[in-house]
Amino acid sequence: MNINFTYLPGDGIGPEIGAASIDVLQAVAQKFSHTLDIEQHLIGGAAIDQGAKPLPQQTLASAKRTGAVLLGAVGGPQWDHLQGAARPELGGLLALRQKLGLYANIRPAKPYPSLMAASPLKRSYLEGVDFVIVRELTGGIYFGEKGRDENGAFDQCRYTKHEVERIAHRAFRLAQTRRKKLTSVDKANVLETSRLWREVVSRVATNYPDVSLEHTLVDAMAMHMLSRGKDFDVILTENMFGDILTDEAAMLCGSLGVIPSASLGENTSGLYEPIHGSAPDIAGQNKANPVAMILSAAWMLRASFGLQAEAEAIEAAVAAALSAGKISADLGGDCSTSELGNWVADYVRS
Ligand code: NAD
Repeated sequence: MNINFTYLPGDGIGPEIGAASIDVLQAVAQKFSHTLDIEQHLIGGAAIDQGAKPLPQQTLASAKRTGAVLLGAVGGPQWDHLQGAARPELGGLLALRQKLGLYANIRPAKPYPSLMAASPLKRSYLEGVDFVIVRELTGGIYFGEKGRDENGAFDQCRYTKHEVERIAHRAFRLAQTRRKKLTSVDKANVLETSRLWREVVSRVATNYPDVSLEHTLVDAMAMHMLSRGKDFDVILTENMFGDILTDEAAMLCGSLGVIPSASLGENTSGLYEPIHGSAPDIAGQNKANPVAMILSAAWMLRASFGLQAEAEAIEAAVAAALSAGKISADLGGDCSTSELGNWVADYVRS
């Protein structure tokens, strides 16, 4: 198969972890007799530095054409003075997600046994944890009207029924492939958008009688996720609550550096990226953890190209690397980005 995708290394550690993931993809292509057709483009600060917009036209055109995007991270202090859509995050990544119609952000939380010691939580809270957060990504308060007057500021939160319905269907379908339990998170005791969310999710649930549904308030969920994380299977929530809960969930896994994510649209189109940012504090030092980026590449193979065995080969190689003590600095080890990437690529080839 010809695996044609758009590769956007971005800023900070993006190019380093990106190079590791491309090595691993090359190993997979060799092992399974595929060809890689990589369209590499600029995004974020890297594009701004070349005199372009944070989301250059060629980048968007490539992403639309291939429908599969592997991205490192964007942003950094050198672009912090820029405002609004001139910023790498808003004008680059958020614009790309929106223009590709990627409304569903999916992040797993399943701690690796070999990394449990790296979590700030006791092992007994981590064992058995295996859930996925489905976060609505293109609506809610981040995209509502914003403004300021002399006395203050406001951010409007809006959701349409359609926006809630489509993300709910996706979460229920995902739950059907897992342990058939869905927890919808909102703030229905206070927010009108949450009351709509709860009504629509309950209505969509009638199409999925095999999936059990519970509603939980976001403040309670912040506690339950840590105290009884193993009780959850699929967690469905809106944009801002999801933003916060997904970072909290990362702590169950030891480090931001090991968690991939997928932002999916209607068919097989998707953007695959680590959940962390561009880590400017360690950029250029060959010490970033490439695992989240490598796992994002595996997810792309599975979700956009239907290559299940290839994705599993990468995931197995990552688990083997961590069990073999190939641990980067963020998790207390001394394995460099390139060494870890090479180890995983060699394991895939072997
Ligand atoms: P960050 O995720 O970049 O870093 C937080 C901390 O985690 C840092 O100490 C960093 O060194 C560490 N870290 C992150 N990824 C790591 C990895 N793979 N290996 C080892 N350590 C890792 O978050 P931040 O510092 O708040 O943001 C830095 C920049 O990234 C900002 O400009 C921000 O806007 C941007 N950002 C981008 C994205 C994205 O592109 N999706 C997401 C979040 C933040």
